[in-house]
Amino acid sequence: MKKQDVIKVIQILKEYYPEATCSLDFKTPFQMLVAVMLSAQCTDERVNKITPNLFEEYGTPEAICSMELSELEKIIHPCGFYKNKAKNIKATASVIMKEYNGVVPNTMEELMKLPGVGRKSANVVMLEAFNSPQGIAVDTHAKRISNKLGLSKESDPEKIEQDLLRVIPKEYYYDVNHLLIWHGRNICVARKPKCTECPICMYCKNVERF
Ligand code: SF4
Repeated sequence: MKKQDVIKVIQILKEYYPEATCSLDFKTPFQMLVAVMLSAQCTDERVNKITPNLFEEYGTPEAICSMELSELEKIIHPCGFYKNKAKNIKATASVIMKEYNGVVPNTMEELMKLPGVGRKSANVVMLEAFNSPQGIAVDTHAKRISNKLGLSKESDPEKIEQDLLRVIPKEYYYDVNHLLIWHGRNICVARKPKCTECPICMYCKNVERF
């Protein structure tokens, strides 16, 4: 797709989803980081049901370090993969305390060195917690829509991101991060995309005609 068409698609989606923003609840960069870690293979809605209870007592890296692993596992159990997530959250809190004096680092490189934090999560933290988007977080929705629109033929999220960054100007990173997720949740859904309602169907290589 040509750059001017990509910009047009972004503008159409922006008009269609004026309210598109982050759907994870958080108050601090550390809480954002924990929420993102919990959201892997889990809906934001479910994460938001768990985090108020977790953050009320354990909303800081210091507090997470002080709690028993088994207690953390119990609280985050409904998010799935709770053993691995609990282990990574504890380890990340410990690194933040020891190496960053309790403050979440604000670069992609440093974030990606934290246990259990990959490029997608680092992108989300930079965007939402520091208001400094560095790229596009490619989740299942961004991946599906990028493939359908012909923006990328890749299946690996990092390669898809590189393809997206080649055609999306930096000033649109903030919007694109939210718009792809919202479009994937509302119209271009995985099982049966609602192509007849899709505002960008004229730009789509995989529009399904009924
Ligand atoms: S036309 Fe259909 S497949 Fe293409 S982006 Fe829209 S909903 Fe998705």
